[in-house]
Amino acid sequence: MSFVQDFENKVKKTIKDYKLLKKNDKIIVACSGGKDSSTALYLLNKFGYNVEALFIDLGIKNSSGINLENLTSLCKRINVKLNVFKIKNEIGYDLKKIHEKKGEGLTTCAVCGIIKRYYLNKISRELEADKLVTGHNLDDAAENVLLNIFGGNLIISLNLGPFSGFKKSKKFTSRVKPLYFCSNEETKKFSKLMNFKIIYSYCPLSVMAFRKKVRVILRDLEALNKNVKLNLVNAFLELLPGLRKKYGNKSSVNFCTSCGEPCRNKFCNFCELVN
Ligand code: AMP
Ligand code: ZN
Repeated sequence: MSFVQDFENKVKKTIKDYKLLKKNDKIIVACSGGKDSSTALYLLNKFGYNVEALFIDLGIKNSSGINLENLTSLCKRINVKLNVFKIKNEIGYDLKKIHEKKGEGLTTCAVCGIIKRYYLNKISRELEADKLVTGHNLDDAAENVLLNIFGGNLIISLNLGPFSGFKKSKKFTSRVKPLYFCSNEETKKFSKLMNFKIIYSYCPLSVMAFRKKVRVILRDLEALNKNVKLNLVNAFLELLPGLRKKYGNKSSVNFCTSCGEPCRNKFCNFCELVN
């Protein structure tokens, strides 16, 4: 079987095995303009799902503009609606400025993550989405499993897995990851074969010292056993139902006193950061 056929079958199998999507779901694909989310958007559209793309413009110099251009050209090519949300119009500042003004003690990536998670959930709900798709791949999954264990934070691992929105709340859009079993290399190869215009380098603002180290460890182990990432992720998925049972009720959903969005504490991370 060809690589492309194999890759597509793997994505279809993930969707089927983990019941990620229904044929009549309204699906918003969180698109960064990068290879993973572009591949997810392209394939779900090809498989006949009802998809729209959502791009959060963080105003990152030498990155956001080109990513948006690339994504716009993909959406035109496959005839998919693109929703663009510019944080500068909403908050008054771009990511770098928000980090400088408010992000004391946080990395740019942490600030970026808080803003993206907040608006992806809020806007997909406003667009009446049944599911929010992200481009997380096998490498991201393996790194996240290790990062949460090394960081001593198992509770945030409850949201790992191909289907992450396990806490039921009308204000949470379920988040799903159809590329969960596709490696970084495979997605890169697929995106190149499909001629997507993509920037393949990491974000110019990224400072992920610990994650980079974990990535190197996994790469070294992979040279000795090519299945380490898959084995790690599969082992984690075996443990996940037990973890969700044990810790699930300790991570109850509250609503932010300031903005009303779902969160764990009195205020959501976004309001803690921006207000
Ligand atoms: P990251 O957190 O950058 O590793 O990205 C993980 C996933 O979040 C991507 O695969 C996308 O689905 C989504 N994502 C990242 N950046 C953006 C963005 N600027 N706008 C919309 N979705 C994004
Ligand atoms: Zn809030």
